[in-house]
Amino acid sequence: MHSFRTTSWMVNIVLIEAQKRHAKRVARVEVDLGKLVCFNPAQLKSVFVQLLEDTVADNAEIIIHTIDPEIKCNQCGRNGDLPLRKSETFDVQIASLTCPDCGASDVDITKGKECRIAGIGMVLPSSTDFY
Ligand SMILES: [Zn+2]
Repeated sequence: MHSFRTTSWMVNIVLIEAQKRHAKRVARVEVDLGKLVCFNPAQLKSVFVQLLEDTVADNAEIIIHTIDPEIKCNQCGRNGDLPLRKSETFDVQIASLTCPDCGASDVDITKGKECRIAGIGMVLPSSTDFY
């Protein structure tokens, strides 16, 4: 399952960072999720919660920042947002990867494919400050 594999990779990053800093607890995990990534925030969150169970990050607050897609058109030079439409069959937003201005499919996705840890809030041994 794609989302499970990606999430477990991100969970590993959280746990490694926590270990490096000898965190007592991870209180918060922030994730950047591009809207072109094919799983929805609720799904990502629930996989996170499962994988963090019984770790130093058990019960951490999961904050998901969704990122709107942007493209750069190699035909007309348009550089900006990519309109999304709601899929009729799945609970996801889908985008056709063509330029909304000229219809060319020679476009680069500049935003919207993110799936990464944006921040980790940890309780460190020396203080109660968040990292
Ligand atoms: Zn174009």
